[in-house]
Amino acid sequence: MATATPKVAILGAGIAGATVAVALKTARANAELIVVDRNFESQSPGALLDILYGLKKPDSVTFSTLQAFQKLGVQIIRGEVLRVDGDKRSIYTAVRTFTPDYIIIALGMEPHLSPFDGANTLPVLASLKDAATLAERLLSSGAGDYLIISPATDTCLHLLPIEAALAVHHLLVRAGKRKNARIRIISPEPLPFSRWDPNFSNAISAYLAKHEIEWLGNMQPASVKGNILTTRLGAEIPFQFAFLIPPVQVPRLFQHSTMLDASGWVQANSYLFNSRGDRVYAIGACAGFILPSSPKDQPPLLFPKWPQNAYDQAVILADNLVKEWKRDIKLVRYSGSAESSMRVGPSSFASISGDFLSQQPPAISLKFPGLLPFGSRASPIPDLRKILS
Ligand SMILES: Cc1cc2nc3c(=O)[nH]c(=O)nc-3n(C[C@H](O)[C@H](O)[C@H](O)COP(=O)(O)OP(=O)(O)OC[C@H]3O[C@@H](n4cnc5c(N)ncnc54)[C@H](O)[C@@H]3O)c2cc1C
Repeated sequence: MATATPKVAILGAGIAGATVAVALKTARANAELIVVDRNFESQSPGALLDILYGLKKPDSVTFSTLQAFQKLGVQIIRGEVLRVDGDKRSIYTAVRTFTPDYIIIALGMEPHLSPFDGANTLPVLASLKDAATLAERLLSSGAGDYLIISPATDTCLHLLPIEAALAVHHLLVRAGKRKNARIRIISPEPLPFSRWDPNFSNAISAYLAKHEIEWLGNMQPASVKGNILTTRLGAEIPFQFAFLIPPVQVPRLFQHSTMLDASGWVQANSYLFNSRGDRVYAIGACAGFILPSSPKDQPPLLFPKWPQNAYDQAVILADNLVKEWKRDIKLVRYSGSAESSMRVGPSSFASISGDFLSQQPPAISLKFPGLLPFGSRASPIPDLRKILS
């Protein structure tokens, strides 16, 4: 340990960063905590779909976490993190540069809004405001042919395209417009999550088919112009109403950084979260965590970037830091057991869980409400407000 009272910089005040700060405070760790974020306005990760379903308005799900952090007794730096140098353990922000004793990188992920030509002319589903605009446009549209464009090759179980297609289905049913409407998802994946557990992939495909949602697989969008999407192989797909589910990527400050692993996400040990540099850790959505079963000759399969996992990783990391400071060498290794919920209706969720590190390849269990008993958690998505209260 560097000093009697270690200085710990937590980069990111989302689920992972907030949980680590609360867990260290709850454990009464003798540490000075500094939380850095560009803004302390937050919302629950599931809020995007609440808005798309028209159940909530953006203002009602946005709240300031500033007071909660102040009450917790942590120092706050409100500013952009510009660079992290793991080898020197230095942080460069818009307001100051410093070298703490520990760095915890919890900077999440961000949408890639221009993945192909003309993508920026499409409505997009990436923020609360987008969801509100999209909900309005969907309900007022007279379109019969809806296209949900998902250019991501799934590396982290990105569920949003499926959830968005089901939301379009339910919104159109509610508006009495579903009968003459066609809903299609266009994706480079042959089938949903085709590189994962085949039972999981088949169950999702069957659920989409049951709702008459078509999966246009093996198609990589190349451009969109007017009402025509052209794929890289030259297929032309006409639509009346299309929107983009952006692929997710590592926060911009890390692009071209030596902090990344082969997957293009922040390097992190899957079990103890050490990143590049001594006493530097990465947790939550920004971290890579390549699965042990990942095929060598294809893009790596990554541990899912779900909010519950960010929470679990933060709790374990905080616990291990406290142990280290007490010179207890029995560190806890992250089990890799992960779960999430997938929104399948205005107020219904499917539960998804798997054992991603110890079981290879991971078997993913999927429980749809009504078909099988629903998952055990009352609230399947961790709530930042509750974590900080
Ligand atoms: C478009 C999109 C939609 C999503 N929809 C859902 C959903 O409907 N349901 C669901 O369960 N999950 C959803 N997720 C996933 C969910 O948001 C993440 O799993 C979860 O937030 C991960 O927590 P985290 O703490 O790792 O990152 P975050 O909660 O993203 O926290 C990261 C924090 O870092 C800050 N930050 C980032 N870069 C910088 C910088 N350079 N300088 C300063 N601060 C910075 C951000 O402001 C943010 O507060 C979505 C993700 C995206 C990108």
